Amino acid sequence: MAQNEAGVALVAGGAGFIGSHLCRALVDQGYEVLCLDNLQTARPSNLRLLEALPNFTFVEADIVNPLPQAVLERADRITRIYNLACAASPPQYQADPEHTMLTNVVGTNHLLRLAEKTGARFLLTSTSEVYGDPEVHPQAEGYRGWVSCTGPRACYDEGKRAAEALTFDYARMNRAEVRVARIFNTYGPQMHPDDGRVVSNLICQALSGRDITVYGDGSQTRSFCYVSDMVDALMRLMESDINPMEPVNLGNPTEFTVNELLEKVLVATGVEGRVTYNPLPQDDPRRRRPDISRAKAVLGWEPTVPLEDGLARTSAWFAEELGVELAQPEM
Ligand code: UDP
Repeated sequence: MAQNEAGVALVAGGAGFIGSHLCRALVDQGYEVLCLDNLQTARPSNLRLLEALPNFTFVEADIVNPLPQAVLERADRITRIYNLACAASPPQYQADPEHTMLTNVVGTNHLLRLAEKTGARFLLTSTSEVYGDPEVHPQAEGYRGWVSCTGPRACYDEGKRAAEALTFDYARMNRAEVRVARIFNTYGPQMHPDDGRVVSNLICQALSGRDITVYGDGSQTRSFCYVSDMVDALMRLMESDINPMEPVNLGNPTEFTVNELLEKVLVATGVEGRVTYNPLPQDDPRRRRPDISRAKAVLGWEPTVPLEDGLARTSAWFAEELGVELAQPEM
């Protein structure tokens, strides 16, 4: 088979939610995609869809361990390395906090070393969690955050902060060419129904007639980005000529309370829904909204899919997954 000019894009975490959308987009752009995933949180059906694509190879591997032979064999053809490998939903990343921290620190270092060795460009997917429970609103990249290193979210948010520090050190020492994205809440088809995050929980609970769980009083806010917008942003960032020492917020700047999200989910699913209010998890940020001025200026990017449209598409996809008939929304 002729080798692609674009070369090989390695996607760590490529069988996960955002990763699987990214792998497909990279194949569409002419990359040969080498997907590494430990299948900790991936959906096997995402992987089956990807494996039907041309120029796609899956290798089961955990980046905490030394990189597998299948990667080393192709090292001379790897031109892009995307690191999306880490459980990102609070219940999942808290289930094995040691592994979460090591994935971010040791795993990121393995991939950075590969970038150094191959000259491939490296993109770290960091997170809005680096801002913790923010005291400034909205959050711009210059804000240093208010994060607890003793709380249950620390394995993830401090892990990602360490991964950023390591990535910027490689850049400062001219050891690798890097990009850092800070991803805010993202949703869409191919999320795991048991992911545990608010959009998938609310839609799946509504569709299956279970009680809908709102944590706290539902007045906390988030800003939700549809996955196709996020993948577009990640690829633009990778290909941009941005100053590598500048992290970039990627997310939708339109902010909603959880209660407002719930109302929109009920419309999208056509369900009345019974709500139960559960305690707010420890260290749950009260509000979150990205300032995306930098992404707009440097990447010429801003989200295009409104929450209502994204929820309609996501609900239709979950309905099919769960084998539930979706009620037609009232006109
Ligand atoms: N949340 C909720 N019900 C759920 C799951 C989450 O009310 O079933 C709340 C959660 O407490 C948080 C917000 O929704 O305030 C977003 O939570 P998620 O786990 O999606 O992501 P986070 O932004 O906290 O990482």
